[in-house]
Amino acid sequence: APPETAHTVSDADDVLRRVFGYDSFRGAQQEIVEHVIGGGDALVLMATGGGKSLCYQIPALVRPGVGVVVSPLIALMQDQVDALTAVGVRAGFLNSTQDPDQRRFVEQMFLAGELDLLYLAPERLRSESTLQLLDRGKISLFAIDEAHCVSQWGHDFRPDYLNLSMLHERWPDVPRIALTATATRATHQEIAERLNLGGAKHFVAGFDRPNIQYRIVPKAEPNKQLLELLRTEHPGDAGIVYCLSRASTEKTAQFLANNGITALAYHAGLDAATRARTQSRFLREDGLVIVATIAFGMGIDKPDVRFVAHLDLPKSVEGYYQETGRAGRDGLPSTAWLAYGLQDVVQQRKMIASSDGDDAYRRQLTAHLDAMLALCETIECRRVQLLNYFGQPGEPCGNCDTCLNPPQSWDGTVPAQKLLSTVFRLKSERRQRFGAGQSIDILLGKQTPKVTQFTHDQLSVFGIGTELSEGEWRGVVRQLLAQGLLMVEGDYSTLALTEASGAVLRGDRKVLMRREPERPARAPKQSRQ
Ligand code: ADP
Ligand code: ZN
Repeated sequence: APPETAHTVSDADDVLRRVFGYDSFRGAQQEIVEHVIGGGDALVLMATGGGKSLCYQIPALVRPGVGVVVSPLIALMQDQVDALTAVGVRAGFLNSTQDPDQRRFVEQMFLAGELDLLYLAPERLRSESTLQLLDRGKISLFAIDEAHCVSQWGHDFRPDYLNLSMLHERWPDVPRIALTATATRATHQEIAERLNLGGAKHFVAGFDRPNIQYRIVPKAEPNKQLLELLRTEHPGDAGIVYCLSRASTEKTAQFLANNGITALAYHAGLDAATRARTQSRFLREDGLVIVATIAFGMGIDKPDVRFVAHLDLPKSVEGYYQETGRAGRDGLPSTAWLAYGLQDVVQQRKMIASSDGDDAYRRQLTAHLDAMLALCETIECRRVQLLNYFGQPGEPCGNCDTCLNPPQSWDGTVPAQKLLSTVFRLKSERRQRFGAGQSIDILLGKQTPKVTQFTHDQLSVFGIGTELSEGEWRGVVRQLLAQGLLMVEGDYSTLALTEASGAVLRGDRKVLMRREPERPARAPKQSRQ
């Protein structure tokens, strides 16, 4: 084999221009590419659409030998290979969809040094024959795509990924680059450990979307709030409204249409033809609003989506980030708006409790939800909180709702104690189960039929909470749920105490709460070209 030649940055630049037809690297790409060309290991956490592929494709072309890409996305391999072939890169793949002849053909190309990139499904590396094949060729690098699949706590766990730590043992001189879009700092650590990437340089990039204004508002009358947003700030703009259920996408689309806004529903329950038509109208027409479940958006690349609105709480920060990220791909000012209320927390906690899967899975869902709730209840800059979640530092942005109109925090210990003791009394007193509404009615001293029927006006807590309004009490319940000081039980949204509630009731723990600003933040007048 020829000796390794010294490669320079200009080689990478040249490949970028000549092969891929781009003028310049984006963000951290250049740094990553240089590092890997130089033989270093890398762990790359980059947002979807950030341009991860070039990070290994260019080093694979610059370094001698074949770049071996491990990817779980078997269905996409053909497309990836076709796209590379179209620009003159010699690429092939090996996976279970091929017959032996096809496989042998690719193997021969590999051995003859006629490939630049070889895509492999992870399970291929379990077979000794594949390993021996790789031994007989020259490998320029290993790229481990979707590296979060190694995390046993993630949704995408692939046992075969655990086996990939052997790449380093078997080919210690071949640089490895692991890439993912969905990892948090904790998963990042886990990836480094499990893939034996202790010495790898970490790159975190591309999560900041400065042109998106993040706003999270208390949910009162969501449809009306949405209509107001569209009328005052986004008249005639294209946008996506996300709802949790299929039924509410249709209701909301109808509501918007009745109010003169061109809106269409989209969800997986619609037939394929309707979905395709809606999708292509969204891409073609100006100012169409799509009201959709999260089934909508994947792979849709419309640059001028001016707003993404959520009428229900997303299940995770990753989901929220991905969905809101569909706004403003053209770099122009755009809005990410979320209406969030007590019912969202109750509903999602219930969904988790009744979900299939083991305890570890439920803990995982809970951790995701808690992070999302923390983003909603923060009194800090939303963008900083979002960036920190993905392990990136950030400065207060001056453009999100909490920056524009900072909420105050207040000591909510006493109201928290009142509410928790009410919940405690209701729980211990009878078998009957009560939701948040009953506790609030009792605290406010309301003689509702349900209060009278159960003689709850006789409780010592009856009427002791008139210093707060009903809305404020709902905010207290919501924040206690968010902080894990209260939980939802059973099928009737019954409130119950948690292990942590005791400390609050005993006065050993203070509870800080977020006070909603008097006037919710509005977008400053945004200038548009
Ligand atoms: P990811 O895998 O991170 O989601 P991709 O590698 O698929 O992202 O890249 C997303 C899009 O950005 C692709 O269309 C790609 O061609 C484009 N892209 C990547 N890097 C650059 C660049 N330096 N200049 C212009 N376009 C780029
Ligand atoms: Zn901010």
